[in-house]
Amino acid sequence: MSDTMTVTVTGAAGNIGYAALFRIAAGDMLGEGIRVKLRLLDLPGAVRAAEGTAMEIEDGAFALLDSLDVYDDARAAFDGTDIALLIGSRPRSKGMERADLLSANGAIFQEQGRAIADVASDRVRVLVVGNPANTNALVAAENAPGVPGERFTALTRLDHNRAIAQLGKHTGAAARDISRVTIWGNHSATQYPDIFHARVGDRAGADIAQDRDWLENDFVPTVARRGTAIIEARGSSSAASAANAAIDHVHDWVLGTPDGDWTSVALRSHGEYGVPEGLVCSFPATSDGGDWKVVEGLDLGEFARARIDASVAELVAERDAVRELGFA
Ligand code: NDP
Repeated sequence: MSDTMTVTVTGAAGNIGYAALFRIAAGDMLGEGIRVKLRLLDLPGAVRAAEGTAMEIEDGAFALLDSLDVYDDARAAFDGTDIALLIGSRPRSKGMERADLLSANGAIFQEQGRAIADVASDRVRVLVVGNPANTNALVAAENAPGVPGERFTALTRLDHNRAIAQLGKHTGAAARDISRVTIWGNHSATQYPDIFHARVGDRAGADIAQDRDWLENDFVPTVARRGTAIIEARGSSSAASAANAAIDHVHDWVLGTPDGDWTSVALRSHGEYGVPEGLVCSFPATSDGGDWKVVEGLDLGEFARARIDASVAELVAERDAVRELGFA
């Protein structure tokens, strides 16, 4: 890794962008030895707000920050970028059908995939946060000829962190003592948070999973619907925790996952665990600082298999819809 990296953040004027940018400038994402050139991208109507965020970042006087620029043009914003955080996406508005949402976002991520292929650095790594994140990542990847498919990922780290938090609450363990949790499938309510291979201190996750009532009626739905619970309590969607998870994702990709542990990453499938090739599906994965590698060979029981299959079926339907719309 070189000692200066260019990072582009889209949707920079939004809530997640606001929470992420300060942490990136402070060195939390790439490590304290790496200087950062920050590029903020947003829609023309949001550029003024992004400039306001940029003014606040300047006022942080961050030692690692080499430059800070605001753009409303994707090709300018991705020029030479090493890390692209694609946070901005079109939210579902009232009365919007699923096809309309996929179509609006398909156009955004098609354009961004093309721009990344044309102007980003040869070593670019992409994390899609904006929903529907998995399928947006698929669209970007399929429109980026020449960029290896494994460089396009989508965020399920927040779901992963939420699963660790719930498991910690249930067992009384601290997050640092919990490892090998997995989120499978789509970043949606169909995701399957899996603790059967987890470790909680000296205890096996499979042992904790014996409490089927807690597992099926509490743990799995609480993790999958946590976003909705936060909206109900806070009056707006999770932002700082999503930003934190995005930073964890890139941190572990670039600097490596801890020995003996893995994390959850939505990655293009090569057919692992029977997931159709090309889908961007969440798997257990490790990094040595280079590419993500899916952890293979985990035993999946009937309970897991049925849930993973349901989430993968949703990803197949999303892929078919964007294909029909001509985006992939
Ligand atoms: P946020 O910053 O709160 O969220 C941005 C995206 O992240 C949304 O799609 C949101 O999905 C998604 N997301 C993924 N995981 C989570 C999670 N766990 N919790 C919350 N959100 C999650 O949105 P804002 O509306 O505050 O800001 C969006 C910005 O993006 C605006 O400034 C807008 O102008 C910009 N934008 C930029 C585009 C571009 O650069 N081309 C295109 C479109 C918008 P969900 O909506 O499902 O919660």
